[in-house]
Amino acid sequence: MSEITTRNVNKPDAQWREELTPEQFAILRESGTEPPFTGEYWDTKADGSYRCRGCGAMLFGSDTKFDSGTGWPSFSEPAVADAVELRPDNSLLMRRTEVVCRNCGGHLGHVFPDGPGSGGQRYCINSCSLAFDPADKVD
Ligand code: FE
Repeated sequence: MSEITTRNVNKPDAQWREELTPEQFAILRESGTEPPFTGEYWDTKADGSYRCRGCGAMLFGSDTKFDSGTGWPSFSEPAVADAVELRPDNSLLMRRTEVVCRNCGGHLGHVFPDGPGSGGQRYCINSCSLAFDPADKVD
């Protein structure tokens, strides 16, 4: 199946490699996964917003973040529904739903139907794919 989605941000891998750390590149551009309990934000409880590390798009708010016990940042829903794209991922002998940044195509993580909120979703997202903006930041 060909990739037909048009991205607002399209960069060659060489440019992504310059802009991202090797670990960020492996996750955002090669669909990798950081080890649990190692990422920058798995235990972050501060108020603010989480943007895409690749393109800066607003993805998740701290008001939907919860402690899932998995060791990855977990959210009940995106801050903006259109900001993420969901697609089937049947790799590693599992049926999962991949979560991708719609703006740049960056891999964020996966979503599972066992979340605690009314929507029942658990967005399991790599810290490496995110950049946290504290709510009290002065621009
Ligand atoms: Fe992005």
